[in-house]
Amino acid sequence: MRSISIFGATGSIGEQTVDLLLRAGGARTHRVVALTGGRNLARLAEMARLLRAEIAVCADPRDLRELRERLAGSGVEAAAGPEALLEAADRPADWVMSAIVGAAGLAPGFRALRHGGTLALANKESLVTAGPLLMAEAARQRARILPVDSEHSAIFQALVGEDIAAVERIILTASGGALRDWPIERLAAATVAEALAHPNWTMGLRITIDSASMFNKALEVIETREFFGVAPDQIEVIIHPESLIHSMVGYRDGAIMAHMGAPDMRHSIGYALNWPERAALPVARLDLARIGQLTFRAPDLQRYPALRLAREVMARRGLAGAAFNAAKEVALDHFLAGGIGFMDMGCVVEATLEVLDPELGRENDRMTLEDVQAVDHLARQRAGEVARRQAGER
Ligand code: NAD
Ligand code: MG
Repeated sequence: MRSISIFGATGSIGEQTVDLLLRAGGARTHRVVALTGGRNLARLAEMARLLRAEIAVCADPRDLRELRERLAGSGVEAAAGPEALLEAADRPADWVMSAIVGAAGLAPGFRALRHGGTLALANKESLVTAGPLLMAEAARQRARILPVDSEHSAIFQALVGEDIAAVERIILTASGGALRDWPIERLAAATVAEALAHPNWTMGLRITIDSASMFNKALEVIETREFFGVAPDQIEVIIHPESLIHSMVGYRDGAIMAHMGAPDMRHSIGYALNWPERAALPVARLDLARIGQLTFRAPDLQRYPALRLAREVMARRGLAGAAFNAAKEVALDHFLAGGIGFMDMGCVVEATLEVLDPELGRENDRMTLEDVQAVDHLARQRAGEVARRQAGER
């Protein structure tokens, strides 16, 4: 029986993973080791009972008592807090889903590589903040990382049986997010609710806003660079409003392999879950005649400063990714709280990278998890200062 752990089980990716797992037989066909969640204790406990998990872990130690009560009589252990997350990651499992949102997902995923199984990586922040470290650790432990981000799953699938040396370019598709068709001068006044109205994908709150600002695509460009090891100038971004092509790989003979499917994350979660096989998945089938046409347009860098900043981060590598991601998370917090405007997020990240510039010069092969966490911490402080200044000026 295959053993499985899910980090971030109560989130958007986590729920869809649980859905596929239940359809595949749940506890009858899998041994579920750890399930973790943030604050939704009712759902975490419900899942843990349903899947007969060994342990359920919530994010905040103050919630431990309630989690214990909710699990009373179930035989599921309860634990809480960042240390407990790491201990849960130490429990061997053949397949581990890394779907905590943000930088908090790095340490548990990194730790789970130690037992050399498969890490299904939804937490793109891990690769953005610590790509060289994560890939080296996976190689050292003979663990396998499978991408779950839809674009990277698409690229991974378009590379099957091919030689990476024959790849000329990788083309990431982007929906353009909720504000794609707004006139650029209106963007500064966009509200959280407006940025949340994503046209195609249903996702967690944070990634939905990041889609509208294209910070999500910026993270994904860096994720592509780190995961597939291609040069930054081989990575292109194109807006494809229908979100039916999930990304493409262009080869040196001019051929392009595209991965298509309904915009449903269970495509890429299911691919990672069943790899190297393909199992039947409960996703909609495309009716191409009805769809009629696919459209594309180039992204405007004025509108999406995040894409320009991603190029700067890739040019630096080292700890720049950790600073970029942390500043982005803080900027997003301030936007969500109403302190800064939609377009201010890019300004906060750019100013943070400038202030921190002297701190970021670490060789890729010399960086440690502690360096990454230190820069993350520093960038959060600096970005907070910049954001508060920005808020004061509004
Ligand atoms: P989400 O907000 O819906 O869920 C996040 C999960 O992490 C929840 O279980 C939450 O309780 C938990 N969590 C949050 N903060 C935590 C903390 N500090 N400590 C421990 N647990 C914490 O997010 P999501 O949309 O499912 O995204 C998860 C990851 O997958 C992100 O890295 C995201 O970029 C990536 N991803 C998501 C999608 C999508 O469609 N949702 C697509 C591609 C990639
Ligand atoms: Mg994606």
